[in-house]
Amino acid sequence: GRGKTEVTVLVLGLDNSGKSTLLNTLRPPEQRLPHVTPTVAHQQDHFQSGGVSFSAWDVSGAPRHRALWERHYRRAHALIFVVDSADHLRLVVAREELALVLAHPDVCARRVPLLVFANKCDAPHALAPTQIASALGLERVSDKPWHICASSALSGAGLPDGVAWLARQLR
Ligand code: GDP
Repeated sequence: GRGKTEVTVLVLGLDNSGKSTLLNTLRPPEQRLPHVTPTVAHQQDHFQSGGVSFSAWDVSGAPRHRALWERHYRRAHALIFVVDSADHLRLVVAREELALVLAHPDVCARRVPLLVFANKCDAPHALAPTQIASALGLERVSDKPWHICASSALSGAGLPDGVAWLARQLR
């Protein structure tokens, strides 16, 4: 295994999907922030915990910001893609953005585990993870291990399951 080697996880997703909230909930309690500010396209949210370095980027930002997060693909050991399960209208946008990430030369050639959080599962009209999976076209991802998990970044529900899956992939 990697032992204490640093692992880098990129947390990607559209704006408002819950990336900042999710990262804050994953923080050790003493490092949690009382008020979460949304991830801004050109500004990464970053923290470290237990030898894992997490950084979050909005993939819905202006195209001119794209190079900023794409630069980090190369050193990523795993990807987390966060989807707002209740934002039915933008699922197709999320699908397109995820497809762009997976098609990038620094991602497509590598067997980086992909964890999808079907976030805001507590919200009214949230779609089930299986529905999100098919909306995103996850069944067609065959060159990487992937996993989808319902989550509520606000309560923390589902986060330990997802992170445990990632940890198993990275061992
Ligand atoms: P980001 O832009 O991806 O970093 O998204 P934020 O973390 O700023 O979250 C956007 C909004 O969604 C905020 O108002 C959060 O409180 C809310 N939010 C985040 N996660 C959840 C969740 O699991 N359930 C619900 N109901 N709201 C959430």
